[in-house]
Amino acid sequence: MSENRESDLLGRVPDGLYIGGEWRPATGGGTFGVTDPSTGEVVKEIADASVEDGVAALDAACEAYESWSRTPARRRAEILRRAFDLLTERKDDVALLMTIEMGKPLGESAGEVTYGAEFLRWFSEEAAHVQGRYGANPEGTGRMIVTQHPVGPCYLITPWNFPLAMATRKIAPALAAGCTMVVKPASQTPLTTLLFTQLLEDAGVPAGVVNVINTSASGKVSEAIITDPRLRKLSFTGSTEVGQKLLAQAAPGVLRTSMELGGNAPFIVFDDADLDKAVDGAIAAKFRNIGEACTAANRFIVHTSVAEEFARRVTERVRAFRTGRGTEEGVTIGPLIDERAVEKADELVRDAVANGATLRVGGEKLDRPGTFYAATVLSDVASGSRILREEIFGPVVAITSFTDEDDAVRIANDTEFGLVGYVYTRDLARGQRMIERLETGMMGLNVGVVSNPAAPFGGWKLSGLGREGGAEGIHEYLQTKYTLTPDPFA
Ligand code: NAD
Repeated sequence: MSENRESDLLGRVPDGLYIGGEWRPATGGGTFGVTDPSTGEVVKEIADASVEDGVAALDAACEAYESWSRTPARRRAEILRRAFDLLTERKDDVALLMTIEMGKPLGESAGEVTYGAEFLRWFSEEAAHVQGRYGANPEGTGRMIVTQHPVGPCYLITPWNFPLAMATRKIAPALAAGCTMVVKPASQTPLTTLLFTQLLEDAGVPAGVVNVINTSASGKVSEAIITDPRLRKLSFTGSTEVGQKLLAQAAPGVLRTSMELGGNAPFIVFDDADLDKAVDGAIAAKFRNIGEACTAANRFIVHTSVAEEFARRVTERVRAFRTGRGTEEGVTIGPLIDERAVEKADELVRDAVANGATLRVGGEKLDRPGTFYAATVLSDVASGSRILREEIFGPVVAITSFTDEDDAVRIANDTEFGLVGYVYTRDLARGQRMIERLETGMMGLNVGVVSNPAAPFGGWKLSGLGREGGAEGIHEYLQTKYTLTPDPFA
């Protein structure tokens, strides 16, 4: 990858805040640096929004609301479709930018652009299909009219691990529903959102409809917006810890909220599973996005009769991985997002080993610039080890075993999280039982990746509230009104 191409691209990324259709510096002129995690070097300085800037962005969203909410759905759909086309055209730039600021291998970034773009296409299709209903009440004394209305100005907070898709998964349904918004990308990866905002402008999104504030002071800026009575909706993707704080801030205003939070996915392999497919699924479910995915398999729960063979085959695959900067040919594992993420993965591995786990490969930070952790496989992980309770968010496989189905279900559900579960079995009835017994919002039955824009993505328990994508997704940005009128024949 040529350095010229990277510096040219970085030069074209806006460095301001986007408020009321204008790019502007932060009030007071503050900036912060965005780092390439594969080198530790700052690649670009961008505007650092203050509380005042956050409120100005909300002002702009409120001002644009009346006109955007009355814009015909077909027109909103066409803008979204144009955005889909532009993103598809600009795929290479967006993918490279994501790899630079987040670290994932270029092929995976390209995959995220395809996935992220699909939310634009899906919600362009959904925009024109929002419907109400009309009918007589059962007593026959009146007519009931049910209508759907945009919820109002929204605040959308996104994480760093999928810098594009987590933004389009919120922005697209909000636009489709007729909402205006303030978007706050993660401070580690704001550049993708800034480039995407320029694309929305090119697609014809009117001034004030989408406003973007990058900030290094997420807490202060967000609190001012969330507690502003003009805000009608908060949608957050990130850690459960921060989500809980934001829910408390949203409570006095009884704000509508959507929360996509942390996970601790079980990956269950039964003795009747197709082991080749289970190993392929395991590699995808664990190592996609360097393990930094809320859907990442966190606990491999494998039947004792196949646990050794499963561990051996997964280890063999992991030994063949290539770690490096995501732009290099053949790299499968990029850097973790920062030093804290490396420390956390290392702590969890050391704790598991101290509790008796077998370290089969990896288990160390890499001695090179950037924040790299070796792809790791642990087997015989003892119950009670931290790695089975906490979200790893790194390239570490933790294998534990079970003897019967009830045991597998008990272990899988023994967590406060409930985002996704993976099950490998050839027994159809067993698969169906697992659908009914696993306490998760999503399930992969003999598949290792479940995300799809046409499906309702979301979790149970501490993994969140609401659904993104699917037929459900647009309803997170709509509110229902029921009107009663008298019987017109009376
Ligand atoms: P995070 O909670 O630290 O940050 C998420 C976002 O919140 C960022 O934009 C951050 O700047 C902002 N933020 C941080 N503190 C804040 C505060 N006090 N007030 C307001 N905003 C604040 O999470 P992260 O490290 O960026 O992302 C990793 C987490 O996200 C993981 O737990 C992962 O499971 C979760 N995640 C969930 C999903 C899902 O759909 N369920 C998808 C991706 C990531």
